[in-house]
Amino acid sequence: MLVVMKAQATPEEIQAVCDHIEQLGFRAHPLPGAQRTAIGITGNKDAVDRGNIEALSGVAEVIRVSKAYKLASRDVKEEDTVISFPASGACAEASVGGGDLAIVGGPCSIESREQAFAIAQHVAAAGAQFFRGGAYKPRTSPYAFQGMGVEGLRIMAEIRDRFGLRIVTEAIDNESLELVAEYADVIQIGARNMQNFSLLKHVGRLRKPVVLKRGLSATLEEFLMSAEYIMSEGNYQVILCERGVRTFADHTRNTLDLSIIPAVQRLSHLPILVDPSHGTGRRDSVLPMARAAIATGADGILVEVHHQPEKALSDGPQSIYPDQFVRMMDELEQIAPVVGRSLPRAIRVESSAI
Ligand code: PEP
Ligand code: MN
Repeated sequence: MLVVMKAQATPEEIQAVCDHIEQLGFRAHPLPGAQRTAIGITGNKDAVDRGNIEALSGVAEVIRVSKAYKLASRDVKEEDTVISFPASGACAEASVGGGDLAIVGGPCSIESREQAFAIAQHVAAAGAQFFRGGAYKPRTSPYAFQGMGVEGLRIMAEIRDRFGLRIVTEAIDNESLELVAEYADVIQIGARNMQNFSLLKHVGRLRKPVVLKRGLSATLEEFLMSAEYIMSEGNYQVILCERGVRTFADHTRNTLDLSIIPAVQRLSHLPILVDPSHGTGRRDSVLPMARAAIATGADGILVEVHHQPEKALSDGPQSIYPDQFVRMMDELEQIAPVVGRSLPRAIRVESSAI
């Protein structure tokens, strides 16, 4: 159910409606919009008695949301969600969704302070706003490098201060989540965990932006239902990420499904990034697919960058070189205006600053 408040409803009236919903034993999700506030109701098994709510002061109407996902749906919130990061410390203002494209670049894994700093320097100099790097890695083999853990998180915190890059890093379980949340600006939930409902609920109780990657074989509805898990706990700052799915095709590691972008945008107000690194698994495919993703209407790119990919401890073959990252930024900057976007490029440190 969705309570649509009148445009002129006061904050007190909105609060009173939320209190009423909570007293009925349901959960109220106030969703401010450009014109008016809507309040999502979850936790109800049967239809809520709308008559009672409609009679409350400031309420315009109460409508039923028939989709399985509600808070993630455009039925509940018409305008695109923009996740804003106010300027803080060395980091300038940034956003995901809206007019500006968001670019996240960095290695698959943090391998050492030297490696992470060398790559971060290139990522910052190219004008990206976000740095990615795994400290906890979900690896197919238990014998493969599992990440540096908290030491990797500390290195990324230093990178944020030094280069003004916001940190995107993955939490692989409830145990790592607490630490990751302490250090990260954006918590990544990986493809393998897209349906780890316990982890989704835990991340939903935090008030920090989340990048939710599409599962290896997830349908659009399953993807949005996972976003709903996070939002149903009160964390509305969800960024979707298409990273390819399993198909019969063997010319790439996964099949990057760019057709999900218009489909997501039709059904949901949430922003969506594209990861052409995991989406293809091949360095030579990353730039073409990044260009296509922006042309298709993605809100940004999440990409793996390594200065020595042949020595990388994970995902070297799909990591682009720093000069390719610069080229990607240049190309996306040109494509962006064609689709009504722009690519903000922060001018930061000189390359000699390290
Ligand atoms: C990653 O971003 O390095 C990663 C493990 O991604 P995914 O969960 O999409 O495989
Ligand atoms: Mn990776």
